[in-house]
Amino acid sequence: MSATVPTESVRHPAYGGVPQASWDDWRWQMRSRVTSLGALSDLIELTDEERRGIEGRGEAFGFAITPYYLSLIGPPGCPVRAQAVPHVDELVTTPWDLADPLAEDAHAVTPILTHRYPDRGLLYVTHNCPVYCRHCTRQRKVGDVASAPSREMFEASYAYLERTPEVKDVLISGGDPLSLSDRKLAEICARLRSIPSIEVLRLCTRNPVTLPHRVTDALLEALRPHHPIFVHTHFNHPAECTPEAGAALDRLADAGFNVGNQMVLLRGINDDAETVEVLNRWLVRHRCRPYYMLQCDPVGGTAHMRTSVDTGVEILDAMRGRVSGLAIPQLVVDLPGGGGKVTLTPERLVRRDGNKRVYRDMRGREFTYVDEPL
Ligand code: SF4
Repeated sequence: MSATVPTESVRHPAYGGVPQASWDDWRWQMRSRVTSLGALSDLIELTDEERRGIEGRGEAFGFAITPYYLSLIGPPGCPVRAQAVPHVDELVTTPWDLADPLAEDAHAVTPILTHRYPDRGLLYVTHNCPVYCRHCTRQRKVGDVASAPSREMFEASYAYLERTPEVKDVLISGGDPLSLSDRKLAEICARLRSIPSIEVLRLCTRNPVTLPHRVTDALLEALRPHHPIFVHTHFNHPAECTPEAGAALDRLADAGFNVGNQMVLLRGINDDAETVEVLNRWLVRHRCRPYYMLQCDPVGGTAHMRTSVDTGVEILDAMRGRVSGLAIPQLVVDLPGGGGKVTLTPERLVRRDGNKRVYRDMRGREFTYVDEPL
């Protein structure tokens, strides 16, 4: 296996003098994020392509990196680096790029609530994230203070949900919701829970990856009264699977959260079966179910990170039968323009012959199933 999981905690030497209590404090990590070209170039040797990426993206989609996540960064080609440091290739656009590929704004019923699928709503609760992922689908909004939700927007969203009982499942998203205080998050959960028709809450967060120190006992105690809460997180590569990240997943599972991972397929980062297998086996060990393997959305600035759709199918084909089904996610393309998700699977049907179906197994052998129920 080429991809391995780190077994020890690491810190960039520049943070060697930071007291452990500060390092473990998520607020310190947020306050100490690296957000400027000057600060980043003092910490890692930037390539010319990265410098031009930072300068070219500027205000349009800036960057931010926590000291923790920055400490995982290796030389050019490192999968953590590629997700966090802008690159000049982000300036390349294609005719099929979209600012809002999932048409979330077109389906917005308030400035912060999207109602696209009949029984689900997506609530945008913050514009902040510990790290601004270079492949982010919502880069049109995240990091932009102008997209920060107001109290009136929250109230309008709660009112909509109260008069729309077909919405039973609310995704609390952003930005990264765990950028909010425990008190604010608990208030949102409590308010949603007070709406009788809402059955399930989902918390969409990359904090276990980019800032695992955020998963504190105090946070878990604040949210636990509002179960069932499903947590969707977003690990993309084994290099992110640190002891701290594993401990955060363990704490979530111990506190009764049902945790799933939504990996995004990214070219040169995780677009091979071995990498996905190592990642997913680690996730399962930490009681996090690999849920989706998502085709990267065609958002502007990500063309260099996107894989072909066939790549995902080939990865699934290579894993199926060899790897426990627990570690195999659904491969999904979220159709641009708001069509919703479609699931792709490797084709195993070879031919139909009357009531017989001939399928191919993982080794290419053919087997017949007689499809004739009584
Ligand atoms: S944490 Fe999520 S919302 Fe924030 S930049 Fe990354 S992908 Fe986008």
